[in-house]
Amino acid sequence: MNLSIKIFISLILSVIVGLIVGESALPFINWWIAPIGTIFINLIKMMIVPVVFCSLVVGMTSLGDTKKLGRIGLKTIGLYLVTTAIAIVIGFGIAGLVHPGVGLQMTSDAVVKVKEAPSIMQVFVAMIPANPVASMAKADILPVIVFSLFVGVGILKVGGERAEFLVKFFDACAEVSYKIIGIVMQFAPYGVFALLLPVVAKNGPAVLLPLISVIACVAVGCIIHAVCVYSSLAQIWGNHTPLQFFRGMSEAMLIAFTTCSSAAALPVNMKNCQEKLGVSRDVSSFVLPLGATINMDGTALYMGVCSLFVANVFGIDLTMGQMAMIVLTGTLASIGTAGVPGAGLIMLAMVLQSVNLPMEGLALVAGIDRVLDMFRTCLNITGDGAVAIVMDQEEKKHAAKVARNG
Ligand code: ASP
Repeated sequence: MNLSIKIFISLILSVIVGLIVGESALPFINWWIAPIGTIFINLIKMMIVPVVFCSLVVGMTSLGDTKKLGRIGLKTIGLYLVTTAIAIVIGFGIAGLVHPGVGLQMTSDAVVKVKEAPSIMQVFVAMIPANPVASMAKADILPVIVFSLFVGVGILKVGGERAEFLVKFFDACAEVSYKIIGIVMQFAPYGVFALLLPVVAKNGPAVLLPLISVIACVAVGCIIHAVCVYSSLAQIWGNHTPLQFFRGMSEAMLIAFTTCSSAAALPVNMKNCQEKLGVSRDVSSFVLPLGATINMDGTALYMGVCSLFVANVFGIDLTMGQMAMIVLTGTLASIGTAGVPGAGLIMLAMVLQSVNLPMEGLALVAGIDRVLDMFRTCLNITGDGAVAIVMDQEEKKHAAKVARNG
């Protein structure tokens, strides 16, 4: 049976069993079952640093060489980052309106301290690791991300055979990390059951509504982002009406929705962008694979919604500083998210960790993650298409200018 179905079944089972046994069984559950959930959370935590480090290094090196980071590369990356940050803000906005998770009070063993918001300069200083190994040991995510980006750029600068060796090495390490996560995820149905059972036994039916509201927030957020941001870009730059744009994108969107993988949708996205939306082969073959690797607006939006959800569930008021931190780490985390099903969940663990939100919240999200993945992957690849249209027009303008100036 498919893993996501198993996880979903364990979510349903935990609700049914929790409702039947109720609060009276809590001592037994806390003694015998809850630790299994803690083991699952620890296994996920174990993989955060390796997967972030390796996949970000690979993400940077996938740019090919630093020259490619020139005109088209920088603009593309800039546009990807801006739309990603907007996506998280939309996620925050919707979750701020709907308040998913409010009323479902969970407590965490991890002491949740709401830190005072650091100043923006403090955030920047803290981003630069004086000792990357110490940052890794403490799972201080932001400095680890910055270090990974530097390693990636360093490898690109070295170039040649030695760099190729390192690219292959880190690619293999990333692959190994994902394999381990795959093994850990096999354990997810039990972990999710063990984590949710105490919550349902304690809270009763009140746990169901928040989960439905998380799905609604992510789905509506994705639709708003696609319609307002992407179809405006396609209209302003490419002169495509929203209908033309979405019709052109529809096949790739459908594949993304059903496979939950940007990588799987890439070939169809390339074909359709060229044939249906008039993007040149040059631009699409650079912008789309890069986008499938680093541009994950749906994943970012999901991180915004889910981190507010987890904060609500644990009764934590996020400060502005923490929200800014989520936008920053969420944007960077989405770069490091692989275009495969479920990758965003692991990166969510990292975002939660960066602002000290309890990791137990992950279990609630994990139960419905497949459904959320469908929406976010669909948005991820739609964003790649929109940016490809913008870059294509920019390149055409540039070529026309060059021709005019002789
Ligand atoms: N499944 C997503 C993608 O392939 C990544 C994620 O899990 O957020 O785009």
